Amino acid sequence: MSAVTGSDASAVLAVTLHPLQRAGAWAVVELAGRGGAAQVTPADIDAVAGRLTADVCAAATAAKEDAAYDWWKVLFALYPNSKATHSKRSRERRLLEPDIAALFVPDQVGEGARTWPCTFCSRPTGTVWTKSALPLFDTNKALNTLPPGVAGWPVCRGCRVAIWALPYGAWVTAGSVTAMSCDEEAAERRFVSRNVLRARRILQAGFGSQPTGARPEREAVAALWQVAGQVPRAATLWHFKNDNQEPLLRVTRTRRAASQFLARVQGNEPLRRAWKLLARELTRFDGKGRRITDGQGEAAGLLFEAEDGQGRTLLMQLYRLLLLPRERAWALEERAVLTRLAFDYAREVLGVSVAAYPQPVAELLADWIEHGSGSPRGRLAEYRSVALSDYKLGQLLVRAQFRLALDGRPVAAGPQEWEPLITQRPRAWEQRMLLAAAVVQLLQERGVPIGERPEGDDREAAGLEDDSDEQLFSPYDDDQEVM
Ligand SMILES: [Zn+2]
Repeated sequence: MSAVTGSDASAVLAVTLHPLQRAGAWAVVELAGRGGAAQVTPADIDAVAGRLTADVCAAATAAKEDAAYDWWKVLFALYPNSKATHSKRSRERRLLEPDIAALFVPDQVGEGARTWPCTFCSRPTGTVWTKSALPLFDTNKALNTLPPGVAGWPVCRGCRVAIWALPYGAWVTAGSVTAMSCDEEAAERRFVSRNVLRARRILQAGFGSQPTGARPEREAVAALWQVAGQVPRAATLWHFKNDNQEPLLRVTRTRRAASQFLARVQGNEPLRRAWKLLARELTRFDGKGRRITDGQGEAAGLLFEAEDGQGRTLLMQLYRLLLLPRERAWALEERAVLTRLAFDYAREVLGVSVAAYPQPVAELLADWIEHGSGSPRGRLAEYRSVALSDYKLGQLLVRAQFRLALDGRPVAAGPQEWEPLITQRPRAWEQRMLLAAAVVQLLQERGVPIGERPEGDDREAAGLEDDSDEQLFSPYDDDQEVM
């Protein structure tokens, strides 16, 4: 974790590979108004340390009803037992300030001074911090281990300032902090500079100034999209939460092909339209018509996968949109673009072999749903209930084959076609989702009722007219008002 990138060893500020130090270091560069870490001077560090001290003191001495108190909640999530957040802290600024300023004093590394290599960047330092000033250093899922023979973690001045500049460079809420790392440095810096602006507004006006339902993934995807373009780049989000019991770290990341996929969606009319439909579907309103989720943020979030495999993925969400009964029926053209989005994402980002997916199997299922005994809606419901199960789908395919043959109808596929779809092989599950999307599209093309209430096209009402100049993966509007 001590590798240094983007700066030379004599500089006062290192940008290391530790994700929290790294986000904080970029925030220092941004706050200092410099082009890179190598240009940051000791005077810049003094100025940033002064700014941090002033903001920390304002937050820590604010009354609970003040907007400034919101920043204290951020500090509490990150440094719950520090001098800034401890319940016994002084509420008098003049008494608190020396304690906070002391966190950032210059290193004494002269002759005879006892020093250790900094935990983050290896520069010599005489300052040893305990976990109270270091976020994440007391989790079970620790990123760090204590160096032997030292009563804490040695942290140099540049890294101390960086660690406390983290809330400026990360996406913060009242109880969580999200930092981004990316194999494209410019995307990280874009994300950080947007967060520095956002932090400024939160410091002034509190979280009430922020749009409801806003998510860090939208800013991360906007940064990735603006910077990476056609180049394959992955973004990782480090979501850190501290609820005063157990600090939690959750890591989510996009696949490398996601950045190329974003460029493709932006440049392709049907895919753009599908993405807008998806974002519209994910926008939720409360009973009074106020927006409670941000569809663009939710859609961006679907590009991120959790390390533990938990969480909704884009493909799963599209499957649900296309397969589950709905209040408003999809127009055939809407279904077609959403299905295409699912297929393209599976092929280009997940690496699912779409060529192996057999169209005849979709036809067999559509034939059975259309012509089998009973109602097509009942058979579709039956298919939906087994569509993702390897074993049960296999049973249903055998039944469908027999039924159609018994009725003297053409049978579009046999076991050799569907065998790859009903295995437990990697990606067979995704292929079953795509199969289901194709089946429902075929049914709709044939005019088979699929259990939805048909309705006119309300795309104008939803503001979905295509405007190809518009940037699809936009960051949050700086002037956006609370909805
Ligand atoms: Zn350091």
